[in-house]
Amino acid sequence: MASSKSSFLQNLQRALQLDLFGDLFAVDRATAPASSPSAPSSPRAPRHHPSPTPDNEASAKLRQILLGDVVLEYTLRRSKRRSIGFLIGDDGLRITAPRWVTIADIEQAIIEKQEWILKHLRAKREQQNQKQAAQLRFEDGASIALLGDAFTMRFELGRSKISVDHNSQELVIQLPVEAKDPLHENMCRTRLKAWLQQQAKLIFSQRMPELAQELGVDYKHMQLSSAGTRWGSCTSNGVIRLNWRLIHLDPDLIDYVIAHELAHRIEMNHSPAFWATVGRIYPQYDTARKRLKEAAVTGLPQL
Ligand SMILES: [Zn+2]
Repeated sequence: MASSKSSFLQNLQRALQLDLFGDLFAVDRATAPASSPSAPSSPRAPRHHPSPTPDNEASAKLRQILLGDVVLEYTLRRSKRRSIGFLIGDDGLRITAPRWVTIADIEQAIIEKQEWILKHLRAKREQQNQKQAAQLRFEDGASIALLGDAFTMRFELGRSKISVDHNSQELVIQLPVEAKDPLHENMCRTRLKAWLQQQAKLIFSQRMPELAQELGVDYKHMQLSSAGTRWGSCTSNGVIRLNWRLIHLDPDLIDYVIAHELAHRIEMNHSPAFWATVGRIYPQYDTARKRLKEAAVTGLPQL
């Protein structure tokens, strides 16, 4: 019995390792820190204490395990897969396991992989905190960045109209309804977003022809994009897309993105020849690239 149990554990271990390199997530175990990561500072409070569930439970179950002084909560889903899968999702650790694997074996697997699990849970939580901090506070006095400058939002009841007061550095948002009313908040956000996109289009379509002429290239047309991670793109037939969220950034950075995409009209790659082309109209591209990267990391306001 003892030997069949240990060979079962060996198989389980192998399955687990295979899975770590498998399709659920990409993790390079070689880069994992050798030391045990410290526990997350504030583990989520347990929502309830699930009673032990039969192993053949089909639906996802919320479970807990104590790892040192950390209560680790996870959802367990049974499936037809042949190995135990670990996934760090928005709601925490999700484990998928074959029906025949016991809870004790799953817990053993968690204990063995705890370093990896805690490290990735912490990274996920940090990412979520950052996202939350970037969420635009939609209220009187809240700050919003426009072309790299901080403006204060001021809400007024009136005809639907948004205007910039450069003297007071205010963005005056006139709406027929109270913005702080949760019923209307979505509508107000949509209005503001539409206005920001309109401004972006105005500025981009002013700078595009100027920079294109400087570089001596043409393009078919410009479109706004709201891509999650890309600032711009250029198709082979000359359609240039620019992310409207650039409107929050310094005009200098907008110029860089436009120069970058226009340079793709000559070089459809990121070769030294491409960068030399960018440099013809935007010599300080290296600094701009770094600043853009920082802007992406700190996060633009989420509308
Ligand atoms: Zn490019």
